[in-house]
Amino acid sequence: MPAVWLKAGKEKSVHNRHPWIFSGAIARQEQGIAPGAIVDVLQSDGVWLARGYINPHSQIAVRLLTWDAIEQIEPNFWERRLRHAIKRRDSLRASTGTNAYRLVHAEADGLPGLIVDRYADWLVLQSLTLGIEQWKPLLAELLLNITGCKGIYERSDAEVRSHEGLRFTNGLLKGGQPPAPVRVMENGHLFAVDVCHGHKTGFYLDQRDNRSVVAQYCGGAQVLNAFSYTGGFSIYALAAGAQNVTNIDSSADALRMIEVNTTLNELPAQTKVLEGDAFQVLRRLRDDALRYDVVILDPPKFAFSRAQLGTATRGYKDINMLGMQLLRPGGILATFSCSGLVDEDLFQKIVFGASIDAGREGRIMHRLGQGSDHPTLLSFPESAYLKGFIICVD
Ligand code: SAH
Repeated sequence: MPAVWLKAGKEKSVHNRHPWIFSGAIARQEQGIAPGAIVDVLQSDGVWLARGYINPHSQIAVRLLTWDAIEQIEPNFWERRLRHAIKRRDSLRASTGTNAYRLVHAEADGLPGLIVDRYADWLVLQSLTLGIEQWKPLLAELLLNITGCKGIYERSDAEVRSHEGLRFTNGLLKGGQPPAPVRVMENGHLFAVDVCHGHKTGFYLDQRDNRSVVAQYCGGAQVLNAFSYTGGFSIYALAAGAQNVTNIDSSADALRMIEVNTTLNELPAQTKVLEGDAFQVLRRLRDDALRYDVVILDPPKFAFSRAQLGTATRGYKDINMLGMQLLRPGGILATFSCSGLVDEDLFQKIVFGASIDAGREGRIMHRLGQGSDHPTLLSFPESAYLKGFIICVD
């Protein structure tokens, strides 16, 4: 097995089972290691530490797969890891109301760089690293065998691939072509999901549990759903008896799906869509003195690097101030951030700042996170990214 040697003192994170080794921690490596190959990671004095795959072109030079010296990275290894990950979702598989959920959550499932989502009888795979690229055909075959799904589609069009020197690749990997759209069920609600062209792998599965919590406040309510995408929160709100839901999104394609989803669920067509930049639309609605009982803010990731934290903070503060100003006294703000770099503590401070600017008092009623199919590995806190609050705003 080719080997890399760490610099003295750089073994601590490996002992703590953090799965990443940054290029700056590596003292030297054997000549001629193929990018994407499996390597042994050794302490500076040669003691064996762990095994993973290498990409010398990435700042994350090695992603660790095992800390057990006798565990070889061969087909059985991948099959074991996949079966484990899938087993962790047994309770979701057994659910009669849900057939769309994440099967593999990358590092957090011991499978760095690999995302697999299940949409009814179809799988969608995202390969984020060169290491996973090497094993992709095998992984596709194993996944279809284990799950009995009809086909596996690849959506490797995430920006992070560029850090690995990889181009985007989308298309059928194995089995049959998924229908356009795939029809799925989430907590008893039906959704049309475009797995070939939708965002990420087609749907924001991480918000499943949170949609149910928000729905508890939507009976009889006038709801404003900003950054609505295809209306995930809106369908739950209407099913819970909302009077009407106004949706804001910059994507016309996403907004068009809201009507499809409303019809699928045989819900009253009490939806309005406003296409545009939510920052501007929220401001306009506020200035037009429109007010709501529930405001949902689920923006895209604002902070991709520490350098962007300041701008991201200002963005979150601005929309949260507007969201509060758009609420009637006693209204409910459901506010989220999926920027991993903004932790829950910072997010709470930002929302507090927004409440001061809005001249409103808020009380956190629920603290929310990502669903159980997006677990957080204790040794890899980076796997926690989604946080949210439900705030009663006076
Ligand atoms: N709440 C949604 C997911 C939201 S994802 C759900 O439950 O499915 C974030 C959404 O914000 C995307 O649909 C994206 O098109 C939209 N978006 C991104 N930037 C925006 C902007 N400046 N104004 C309005 N919408 C925006």
